[in-house]
Amino acid sequence: MFGPRHAAMSHAARGGGVSSCFAFGMTPFAPLPAPAAASNVPDQRTMPPVATKPEPSTYPSLESVLVSEAQIKKRLKKLGAEIMALYGNEEITVVAVINGAILFTADLLRNIDNPIRLDCIRISSYRNDTKSAGKPQVLGNLSLDLANRHVLLIDDILDTGKTLSLIVSMIQKLSPASVRTCVLLDKRGRREVEFEADFVGFQIPDKFVVGYGLDFAERYRNLPCIGVLKPHLQNPPEWA
Ligand code: 5GP
Ligand code: MG
Repeated sequence: MFGPRHAAMSHAARGGGVSSCFAFGMTPFAPLPAPAAASNVPDQRTMPPVATKPEPSTYPSLESVLVSEAQIKKRLKKLGAEIMALYGNEEITVVAVINGAILFTADLLRNIDNPIRLDCIRISSYRNDTKSAGKPQVLGNLSLDLANRHVLLIDDILDTGKTLSLIVSMIQKLSPASVRTCVLLDKRGRREVEFEADFVGFQIPDKFVVGYGLDFAERYRNLPCIGVLKPHLQNPPEWA
């Protein structure tokens, strides 16, 4: 039932994942339509933004702004509409990956009219200061029951794909009616495990970004835009 955009779903479904819940009649809900199939035509909505140099006084820590506050606001309206179109009148159980997805989730949910249940999951960064350090770990677990629910997992950024594929496989074990994923940013070129999100805010190039929930050493989450830190603030250089 999942289109080719959702490689992780299709993969997981082979192992008795979410889509099989429908087949076993475990859900009281009508099946949702599959997300649109991938096409070779570039999706204008998620085209890489053009980086702009910020006014020196606006964001003194940033070398460039990749996505402005206005662009985020505009895109979130459309993303909300895309999500509502897919779910119809169904209730959605949102699982936000904290801390990174806090700002994105809060603003996105204001653009969705469906009944919403909200839960959060905390995942340790598997990076240390210099490099990727293996598997992400779950630090704070879910409290809502996800069985027979339509789960929408929201994260700030899809990079190697390790974090979301881990959480999706965890959620699938809880017998939800469906699992879909929504990310604000997608660095498609960096994937180490096969994974596509169902909803993407913006495709961005392979640059380490901060702002709008995304941090560097827990700083910069409160910037209203998304940008690249000035080189002298980027430590270590591997994350530049
Ligand atoms: P993945 O498991 O897909 O490699 O990474 C997902 C997580 O890595 C994100 O939720 C985020 O915490 C972190 N991450 C990946 N790229 C960036 C980035 O450019 N900036 C920041 N601040 N975090 C990132
Ligand atoms: Mg994160």
